[in-house]
Amino acid sequence: MPDTLHRHLLPKLQQLYQHSELLVALFDSSDTLRYANPAFRRTYHLAKNSYPSWVQLMRDNYANGTGTVIQTDNFDNWLSSALSRRGKQAYRILETDLHDGRWLLMTETVDETGWMLCTAVDISELATRGRSLRTARDQALRAASTDALTGLSNRRHILALLEALLPKAGQHCIAIVDIDYFKRINDQHGHPFGDLVLVDFARHLQGQLRRSDGVGRLGGEEFMLILPDTPLPQASLVLGNLLACLQLPRHIGEQVAFRYQFSGGITRLLPDDTVQSAYHRADQALYRAKQSGRNRVELG
Ligand code: GH3
Ligand code: MG
Ligand code: MG
Repeated sequence: MPDTLHRHLLPKLQQLYQHSELLVALFDSSDTLRYANPAFRRTYHLAKNSYPSWVQLMRDNYANGTGTVIQTDNFDNWLSSALSRRGKQAYRILETDLHDGRWLLMTETVDETGWMLCTAVDISELATRGRSLRTARDQALRAASTDALTGLSNRRHILALLEALLPKAGQHCIAIVDIDYFKRINDQHGHPFGDLVLVDFARHLQGQLRRSDGVGRLGGEEFMLILPDTPLPQASLVLGNLLACLQLPRHIGEQVAFRYQFSGGITRLLPDDTVQSAYHRADQALYRAKQSGRNRVELG
């Protein structure tokens, strides 16, 4: 018999999940919970028929002091950082501690359609030795890949994501986007307000992208988007949307109706591309967008 689940075995699997202490959850490609067994629901204080997005689940747990311990006084920044790693690899393992004192070993498996299987097992009794060292190491690794101001991937991490995407089959695009007249924003409203605009822009970008997409800060007011499995016309639509939404005034700091804009360059990845060649084409396209009047996106 082939080593696949016969449909008669699925109810058995489901029944065992109902009783197992193993946490099991299934998230769809838009990161909405579609199944969670009782052990998972208990841990994350989820009502029986609630199917929130992963973001909402984490937000609620943070607000209520339940579920995963999230050591931050800036939840949105933490979220950006977590999203910059979530669902980017076919498989990953992470350790997490809970408010109830338990310690979990969690796995995330993502298929090519973006669905994610999440399992976790209580390892409180195991491997207590070296835990604080591992936690410190994980924190250091996270900090090394995170932009401190926005919580997005930093330059090194986003370029590493690009490098990892290059050999993968399929149609992929990247874009470089840069806020227009940012120096003027700093000059008129002060550097701290400029920082708030950068954070707002980071949230705007990440809020519109899929879990499988990458977004990172290259430096200053310049960001890179990585759009796997996205043909150029679709990438162009995504960027068009990002531009269009920013035409509306936004509440930033003391400013209740502030407007800013950006320019972008998009390119699709070619078979012989290196990080440098792809970066260069996107950058050239960005340059053309700036030259031809800003507040627009050019293809390269
Ligand atoms: P363009 O429309 O051509 O992109 O012009 P620009 O003014 O946006 O670009 P320019 O490169 O002339 O200025 C970028 C400014 O960004 C200058 C620099 O002081 C500011 N900047 C860089 N990093 C940060 C930061 O972390 N916070 C703040 N507030 N400003 C920053
Ligand atoms: Mg700029
Ligand atoms: Mg710039």
